[in-house]
Amino acid sequence: GQCAAICPTGAITIKNDLDALWEDLYDDDTIVVAQIAPAVRVALGDEFDIPKGTNVMGKIVSALRRMGFDEVYDTATGADLTVIEEARELMAKLEKGDNKLPLFTSCCPAWVRYAEINHPELLDNVSSCKSPMEMLGSVLKERAKLNEKGKKPKKTKVVAIMPCTAKKYEIHRDDMTYGDEPTIAHSITTVELANMIREAGLRFEEIMPEAVDMPFGIASGAGIIFGVTGGVTEAVIRYVMGEEARYHLADISFTGVRGFDGLKEVKVPYKDGELSIAVVSGLKNAENLIQKIQSGEVHYDFVEVMACEGGCIAGAGQPFVVDRAKPERSAGMYEADRMSNVKLSAENPVAEALYNGLLAGDKAHHLLHYK
Ligand code: SF4
Repeated sequence: GQCAAICPTGAITIKNDLDALWEDLYDDDTIVVAQIAPAVRVALGDEFDIPKGTNVMGKIVSALRRMGFDEVYDTATGADLTVIEEARELMAKLEKGDNKLPLFTSCCPAWVRYAEINHPELLDNVSSCKSPMEMLGSVLKERAKLNEKGKKPKKTKVVAIMPCTAKKYEIHRDDMTYGDEPTIAHSITTVELANMIREAGLRFEEIMPEAVDMPFGIASGAGIIFGVTGGVTEAVIRYVMGEEARYHLADISFTGVRGFDGLKEVKVPYKDGELSIAVVSGLKNAENLIQKIQSGEVHYDFVEVMACEGGCIAGAGQPFVVDRAKPERSAGMYEADRMSNVKLSAENPVAEALYNGLLAGDKAHHLLHYK
């Protein structure tokens, strides 16, 4: 409404978002499916006096079930699909000798919007991949459609729990639809989730952790580190290196992808040469880099851009604490990666099953790309 028109971040519409979501949760004819972004799990604890950076994923899953969500999944599973699709897109461009390099990432809606407004000349360089949230959303909607065939169709609504206020805008883009409706019905922030937990009267500190649902219950560590600056790049490097990556995980982490510098530059061996990669966070840093690329001062094959300095762990929807608890939250992300038994997106059995089933043929392009 009018509020949304004057408040670009959507903050004023928050109350309405939550009311509509509660209505869906109470409606027996609606199946409400949640997905939780990587960065949320290492920040929500700040709202409940849990030590900074603690991974509370399991507690979030049980809290959502108690609030009436029917199924709960991990957006990191969607991130595995993004890594696969984006790495394939990059490799195809390199193979073709495409002059539209570097390939810029497209998972941050604030960056994509910035490029659309300020650098339309770069749009062919921006990846055609949807964000992990939209990829997993499309898969969940498609599966619901296939399951509902012949039965009394229940309405499946996908709810995304995100570190980000720009995601509220992303879900209403014309190119992020499933059929004639937005793929994602509601996008709520980490802070809003904390408020819902309080409204529901749950004692979050005491809740016992539970595992996410199958069949999409598996995400690789590569998918999880999407939440921190450099994470997408590290995940893509693991993919591009193939099985070899398994033996070089530590080396990859020391290439310079990690840490909070606004601009990081990485070289990775690829075929007979090497890939030149830049990782930027913060739109000012992105603009400086674009100027240098366009003046010919620097050349890259791949550029990761996150609008928030430090990446999604420091998103505008996260609990506001000193320095956004970046060191602790990023440590929490990398620990989740170390503890995960699948490190490479391509080795996620869920992704493999999807490519052989629901995403077979041209469905992968249709469901996972926005252009
Ligand atoms: Fe949202 Fe910031 Fe992450 Fe971009 S970097 S997706 S704006 S939280």
